[in-house]
Parts: sequence; C-alpha cells; structure tokens
Amino acid sequence: MKYSGLRVIKEALTGHRGWGPAWRDPEPQKSYDYVIIGGGGHGLATAYYLAKHFGKKRIAVLEKGWIGGGNVGRNTTIIRSNYLLDGNEPFYEYSLKLWEGLEQELNYNAMVSQRGILNLYHSDGQRDAFVRRGNAMILNGADAELLDVDQIRARYPFLDFENARFPIKGGLAQHRGGTVRHDAVAWGYARGADSHGVDILQNCEVTGLRIEAGAIRGVETSRGYIGAGKVASCVAGSSSRVMALADIRLPIESHVLQAFVSEGLKPVLPGVITFGAGHFYCSQSDKGGLVFGGDIDGYNSYAQRGNLPTVEDVCESGMALIPALGRARLLRMWGGVMDMSMDGSPIIDRTHIDGLYFNGGWCYGGFKATPASGMCYAHLLATDTPHETATAYRLDRFRRGRMIDEKGVGAQPNLH
Ligand SMILES: Cc1cc2nc3c(=O)[nH]c(=O)nc-3n(C[C@H](O)[C@H](O)[C@H](O)COP(=O)(O)OP(=O)(O)OC[C@H]3O[C@@H](n4cnc5c(N)ncnc54)[C@H](O)[C@@H]3O)c2cc1C
Repeated sequence: MKYSGLRVIKEALTGHRGWGPAWRDPEPQKSYDYVIIGGGGHGLATAYYLAKHFGKKRIAVLEKGWIGGGNVGRNTTIIRSNYLLDGNEPFYEYSLKLWEGLEQELNYNAMVSQRGILNLYHSDGQRDAFVRRGNAMILNGADAELLDVDQIRARYPFLDFENARFPIKGGLAQHRGGTVRHDAVAWGYARGADSHGVDILQNCEVTGLRIEAGAIRGVETSRGYIGAGKVASCVAGSSSRVMALADIRLPIESHVLQAFVSEGLKPVLPGVITFGAGHFYCSQSDKGGLVFGGDIDGYNSYAQRGNLPTVEDVCESGMALIPALGRARLLRMWGGVMDMSMDGSPIIDRTHIDGLYFNGGWCYGGFKATPASGMCYAHLLATDTPHETATAYRLDRFRRGRMIDEKGVGAQPNLH
C-alpha cells in the first residue's frame, strides 16, 4: 500500500478499515542467502538496501525481541554530520544526505526535522577546536557556521550566558542537523524491507553460529536452526555476546546510556543544543517533551537501565546551561546498551570466518548513522568490498594502529 495524504483522508472517512499490517509475520524458512542478526535500525536498513539497491533475494532479519525494542527506539533522535576526522566525516555526511531523502525513499513519515544542531563553546581553546572541526566539515561538503553570542541569544535567550564557571562564548552550528522520530525509522525500514521480500522474524534469538571448515553454515535460534550463505551480525550493545558465539573477541565494551524526557511544554527549544563544558544535549520533541541525555554510566553492563549518580550528573549539566530546566517535571527515563569501541568509531567489516560479517561499535552515535550503515553494510555483503565512505571502519585498525579517535582520549571506551 502506498501511503499518502489522500490515503489518510480516505481512511479517515471510511473508519480506518483499509490499513493492513505494515509487514508480514512469516515463519522461518529452512535457509536464506543472507541472515542478518538484529532487527534494530542498522539491521533493518541493511536488509532494505540489500534487497532494494543490490537486488538480493532470500534475506531474513532475526530479532530476539521486537522491531524497535533496542537502541533504535531508545535514543535521543539526534542526527548530524559534525565530525572532524577523515575516517568519520565523509561517512556521516553521506548518512545525513540519505536522511534528507529517506521519507521519499521509504514512502514513510519518519518526521525528519532539520531543525539544526548547535555545539556551544565556553573557552577560547574550545572555539579554536570548533573552528577546525567546522573547516573539516566544510571541506567534506557538509555545512557549518560559527555563531557568536548575540546570534545564539536571539534563538536561545534562556541559556545561562553569564554562568560564572561556564560562560557561553559562541557555538558551532550545523543547520542541516536535527532530529528524526526514532521508532518510525525502524518501522519505515521494516516495511520497506518486507515489501522487497525480506522475512522479518521477531522473537527469534540467535543462540549459536554453525561454523564448519572455517565457513559459516547457519545459525541456531530460539525458533530452530536456519541455514545461511552469509551471516551479518548487527546487534549493537549485544555485539560481544553474539560474536563470542564464533569465538571472536571484539575491541568493544558494553555500557549503559540513559535518556530523559520531561513533561510536555509549549515550544521553547527550536533546535538541538549541546553543552560544551559537560556532557549534556537537549532537544524538544514534537509532543513538547524536552528530550535530553549526557554521559554513559561508566561501567560495563548489559542491563537496559542506569543509575542515579549519572542522573544527577546529567541534570547538573542541564541546570548549568538552562536554569529553567529545574522547573520542568521529568516524565520518563530509560537506558540502552551501547557497543563502545576502543576508539569511539564503528566497525563494518568481514571477519576471518568465511561468510561471517560484523557491524558494530556505534557507541552512542549510531542512530544518525543508520542509513549509511545500512547502505555500507549491504554494499559489503553484496560485493565483498567496503563502500567508499566506510573504508576506514576495519576490524584490524586497532592492530595496525589506525585508530579513528574523534575525541582524542585513547583506548578509554567510557570516555568516547
Ligand atoms: C539513550 C540513548 C541515546 C542515544 N542517542 C543517540 C542520538 O541522539 N543520536 C545518535 O546518532 N545515536 C544515539 N544513540 C545510539 C544509537 O541509538 C545506537 O548506536 C543505534 O541505535 C545502534 O544500532 P541499532 O539501531 O541497530 O541497534 P538496536 O536497535 O539496539 O538493534 C540491535 C538489535 O539486535 C537484537 N539482538 C541482540 N542480540 C540478538 C540475538 N542474539 N539474536 C537476535 N537479535 C539480537 C536486539 O534485540 C536489538 O533489537 C543513543 C542510544 C541510547 C541508548
């Protein structure tokens, strides 16, 4: 079914009886050419591009829970391409361009909103670093603009500009950045993949990988054995667990990241802002809630919930930037499990096992990467060569000393 404004009107006038399920609920087949483990944003996008753009058939996405139940439905919905390093910036800019055409591509309203993102700076040194980053972005075809205090004050008058410890001195804006309704991304890709013949198998946990003579043969699942020509792991925070089934130890640790949403408020925050003197970022959802977050909890965990010291830390940073935040009531908070890599950058690569591929290490920035990650992973699966924007995301870069350490903090996953 094609979605359109006319269709909405027609359904409204006829009691909404014409809407069918957005994707099928098929039984697993005995085998597939491509088995993608993980029905998050990246797994579903990979399946969609593999079927639609590379014309591949016999594809299944295996999801242990339900579509959208992982980080794709837990993140703070921010998209941007404001990176500094060569390995990252072309990839994230490619992703932003894919976001810009995604709703037409999928015929699905994902509420892509390019309301802009503003990274605030609070010192001269930080300004110099942001100028450098902005120049790197422009050199890679992205947009970037350095804003002074007056320009920021005109848009965000309620910030604490004169804060004694962290006065706001300016900010780096990317006007094409913004937010996207996160679970609509999962649903849109699921619907698109399904319409191209992909089987989406929910409640189907991969519990084992069958490997014979150095090649993958299939996967053991909670719904029985499924044979596979190629198996692509795409399980974000569960990466270490799934790859351990093939005895592969990853340069990744799993950590919890929390997010928060306030009660609904009248429109107050026109874009996404980030605090430069602590870790705090905030936007306002279309329902009116202030959606915000900060640092990861800082210890290894697979639990999808966090702890109070981090809540305090995030709220302190928020109050230092927006004192009025203290008047808003917190509606909900939750956690997601992040696949934190040692240099803070992702991995999209083959493994030493024939037919087994890995996509992960997205840390807390993988939502914005969803379209490019899906396209690049599909490219790798279909052609066995890396996509031109993802050539740096190799597994062996840690051994070769080719880290992509955007923050420059070293092998400290909790700091990336
Ligand atoms: C609180 C929070 C805020 C964030 N904010 C942002 C942001 O603003 N911008 C941004 O770019 N990124 C953000 N992120 C990061 C982003 O959400 C993730 O990097 C990204 O969603 C990970 O890719 P995914 O969507 O495929 O993951 P997921 O949705 O987690 O998908 C992985 C799936 O694999 C499934 N799975 C695991 N093990 C198995 C198994 N054995 N068998 C079958 N299935 C399995 C899981 O159930 C899950 O559904 C945030 C994350 C969190 C938690």
